[in-house]
Amino acid sequence: MTTSSAPMITDPAAAAAAGKCYIARNRAADKLAIDSFHPGPCEWCPYPIAKIAGWLADFNRWAGWTPGEGRYTDPEVQRFVALPRPEQRARTHAAAYPKADS
Ligand SMILES: [Zn+2]
Repeated sequence: MTTSSAPMITDPAAAAAAGKCYIARNRAADKLAIDSFHPGPCEWCPYPIAKIAGWLADFNRWAGWTPGEGRYTDPEVQRFVALPRPEQRARTHAAAYPKADS
């Protein structure tokens, strides 16, 4: 069988937000890291960290992460990566805190 279903995460900003949550929770194993990197409980915090790790691995496979080249083959992900940093940060923040204003 060659068909593959879409992974849980297909939006690059959501992948970045989930990745930040994963990193923040790994940095402080016994408590949630709250700082400018991960300013509060986010959309991804309710999920077990192992699930997030699996979803990020699925996203990387789906988006064609190529470690040797350090890039993704998926055009939407390439567009996200090419955005100016402030725009990437804004989209990532919106994916982490969708109910917040701005
Ligand atoms: Zn979080």
